Amino acid sequence: MSDRPVSKAWMERATRVLPGGVSSPVRAFRAVGGTPLVMRSGSGAEITDVDGRRYVDFVCSWGPLILGHAHPEVQAAIVAAVSRGTTFGAPCEPEIELAEHLVAAYPGLEQVRFVSSGTEATMSAIRVARGFTGRDRIIKFSGCYHGHADPLLVAAGSGLVTYGRPSSAGVPEAFAKETVVLPLDDEERLTTYLREHGDKVAAVIIEPVPANNGLLLQRAEFLQALRRETARAGTVLIFDEVISGFRLARGGAAELLGITPDLATFGKVIGGGLPVGAFGGRREIMRQLAPEGPVYQAGTLSGNAVAMSAGLATLRVLERENGWARLDATGRALEEMLRPVLARAPFPAQFVRLGSLFWMSLQGGEPPRSAERVEAAAADRYRPVFHALLEAGIAIAPSAYEVGFLSLAHTEAHLARLRDALASALSSAPSAGQ
Ligand SMILES: *Cc1c(COP(=O)(O)O)cnc(C)c1O
Repeated sequence: MSDRPVSKAWMERATRVLPGGVSSPVRAFRAVGGTPLVMRSGSGAEITDVDGRRYVDFVCSWGPLILGHAHPEVQAAIVAAVSRGTTFGAPCEPEIELAEHLVAAYPGLEQVRFVSSGTEATMSAIRVARGFTGRDRIIKFSGCYHGHADPLLVAAGSGLVTYGRPSSAGVPEAFAKETVVLPLDDEERLTTYLREHGDKVAAVIIEPVPANNGLLLQRAEFLQALRRETARAGTVLIFDEVISGFRLARGGAAELLGITPDLATFGKVIGGGLPVGAFGGRREIMRQLAPEGPVYQAGTLSGNAVAMSAGLATLRVLERENGWARLDATGRALEEMLRPVLARAPFPAQFVRLGSLFWMSLQGGEPPRSAERVEAAAADRYRPVFHALLEAGIAIAPSAYEVGFLSLAHTEAHLARLRDALASALSSAPSAGQ
């Protein structure tokens, strides 16, 4: 691999003052080896590192940059907002406008509250669901990521229902005990659990399009059973749409799947590249929140004018430009380019996609629908491919189990660069799956 001396020097400084040299662990190259690149600028679908090398960016800051980097209208909205003052500690116009946008767009959303990250959104949605139902227990699915709040940092063991095994040090067993983990793609397990214990379960939280452990597309029957059984049990159904909201459709996965949850959480796209999260849903649940109700939740910078303006500008461009249809067309074009390339790989490989989310699954058989079916061998196959792509000027996630993101800035030419680089990377990849 050719050297990137400026990045290396910065990362040496970074590792002294930042754990692992990063502010979020997914940015480290632990899964693929090597040193993370330090970025200096981005424009459209391309980013430039501190050594002056350019890459076509399929990470898009892990989802927010649905219009690409430094979109002129988002920039202008941010500059205009900043010139009027960044935050007032009082309601502001863009906050109310963005809320109206969300409510108009998302199925069943009557009221919404802004926070500053997806983690805060899911954490607060769980709290309000508990306050509303007066129940403590929650259900999540293995392989779904909902940010790093204590009750959600719990993963499944294999197969059996797992009670409260934290997947992070620092999460007390006692906190995790109220979290039950079930496998995706198994409506029988879910139904049995809810019919036996549903009266103790405050909420079921799910990524309706799970995109944090590969892209685990769910069967409609499973999601319909989830809606039916939670309603029957009086359990709040929370769709975590932090990735899928305003990316897969104007009304997120809920619109696409035709299933309306009781609460939904948002982040990423709705902040236009600034820190924003939101949660909302039925009025009778949201009314539990302070100052109307007894569930406390607050934030100094929540709904600040700059972040709200960036989000509004992003949604306006998406709406004006028929963004979701265009993103899907871009995704389809990429699929048509990459399928034949992956079919010729020296190991089993397939292209999984929904709209502008894609995943190169480096294993055989049907595309997996649960975390239990995702193979560990994929990580070894991914490593050399990742580095070959990086050398060829293509940035994809430094992990075999993270999805790729497309933006409105990605052109046919950008997609073709990924196709050509991937074909060349796979032709020299070892076939044994090492
Ligand atoms: C990214 C993500 C979160 C957490 O959002 P942060 O802004 O990183 O805290 C929650 N849920 C899902 C589905 C996500 O992809």
